[in-house]
Amino acid sequence: MRNMPVESENTEVVIVGAGPTGLTAAVRLAQLGIPYVLLDARAEPTSTSNAALVHAASLELLAELGVGDALVAAGRQIRRIAMMDGDRTLLRVPFGDLPTRYPFALGVPQSTTEALLLQQLAEPAGTVRRRHRVHTVSADGDAVTVTGTAGSPGEPAPFTIRARYLIGADGSHSTIRTALKLDFPGQTYPSQFVLADVALTGAREADDEATINMSAHGVTVIAQLPSGNHRIVATVDAGVKVPDRPDGAFVDALLRDRGITARSAVEPVWSSAFRVHHRVAARFRIGRVFLAGDAAHIHSPAAGQGMNTGIADAYDLATRLAAVLAGQAGESSLDAYDRGRRAVALEVLTFTDRLTRVAMMRHPVARFARRAGTGTVGRLRPVQRRLAMWVTGLQRSPLRGDLPAVTPVKVRSAR
Ligand SMILES: Cc1cc2nc3c(=O)[nH]c(=O)nc-3n(C[C@H](O)[C@H](O)[C@H](O)COP(=O)(O)OP(=O)(O)OC[C@H]3O[C@@H](n4cnc5c(N)ncnc54)[C@H](O)[C@@H]3O)c2cc1C
Repeated sequence: MRNMPVESENTEVVIVGAGPTGLTAAVRLAQLGIPYVLLDARAEPTSTSNAALVHAASLELLAELGVGDALVAAGRQIRRIAMMDGDRTLLRVPFGDLPTRYPFALGVPQSTTEALLLQQLAEPAGTVRRRHRVHTVSADGDAVTVTGTAGSPGEPAPFTIRARYLIGADGSHSTIRTALKLDFPGQTYPSQFVLADVALTGAREADDEATINMSAHGVTVIAQLPSGNHRIVATVDAGVKVPDRPDGAFVDALLRDRGITARSAVEPVWSSAFRVHHRVAARFRIGRVFLAGDAAHIHSPAAGQGMNTGIADAYDLATRLAAVLAGQAGESSLDAYDRGRRAVALEVLTFTDRLTRVAMMRHPVARFARRAGTGTVGRLRPVQRRLAMWVTGLQRSPLRGDLPAVTPVKVRSAR
């Protein structure tokens, strides 16, 4: 590799990571006429369903990018979330009368969301540079430089890209965050999390309802995917031995122990077991470098906020960068990203952490208080509405915030 020529280029914005966050940023920059280069270490996009719940605020943002309707057509509409304790419904959060074109959550695999964003990029084949792994980042007065290697691990070709700004959307193990020496403080939940996409028989919930079942054995979230399979996410005590790929028998035992009537009809099409961390980076901006998505924050999967928060970060940041690069907003707009989106991430972390801890309560007295308290308060319409506005992300959407208006331009990459 030592004697290989270094491929070198200039652009306005370099985006590291082509997950949902990086792709959203790229589509928004392209829409506003800003040149960018999008790099990803992996050879292929995500093929699994990972984040399977797209909330109303994300649907509104994706509609602005031209992929809302196609996504809705590919997904399954979930009209309400019910919180259950055994067979008793404690609380229903209906989405029906929310102030949005999309009064529902959409069950749709992450791979579909990414594929539609990719299609929306102007040059689908060339814009995302796959097999491009970034190793270093450095900044001087008016530019940021990334270096890395491209191609197969056996024959890596070095590259260098200089840009006015960098978006680190490179996931929870972010190279960019590490290179900036940014703290990522937080904790790891003691419980394990099990996930399975499986066809169920005997499920009690309606097809357009997601349920959060709480029991002394743990929390179980169930929602239906467009394929007709159900997505199950469940907490399991730290001491329990969980296979890497939980099978139908494991899933059925888990459902039975928790008083849930449904059983798997066949083996899961996909399953996994993982630990969950909750962390927020100390800053989302250092000079010309920004963090977004999982690189900036990770939290409990409760209420499916991870990818949704990343999509909103990306839309917000790309709009501000475009406004500044086009001379239509001042640099202070970029500080507002750091302040505003970090505050959102902390709020999401706090809410999902509380929800997770309430759902995990074991002591019989605490569980009795939860039943009584949630049952009473949860019947109040204003409470249901506030929860719905929060869960759907509408309350904190960039479209309802202080984003600068931008007229699309073609900024020439001139260095
Ligand atoms: C099993 C599972 C279920 C989930 N369920 C939900 C859910 O229901 N709802 C929800 O909202 N969220 C959910 N999430 C979380 C959601 O998947 C993440 O929040 C989301 O993928 C984050 O997107 P991202 O683009 O920020 O990061 P990622 O999707 O992690 O993408 C980062 C990209 O950066 C690339 N990369 C990393 N390092 C480098 C480097 N040095 N150079 C170049 N490229 C690099 C990676 O290859 C990757 O493609 C779930 C996650 C998992 C794993």
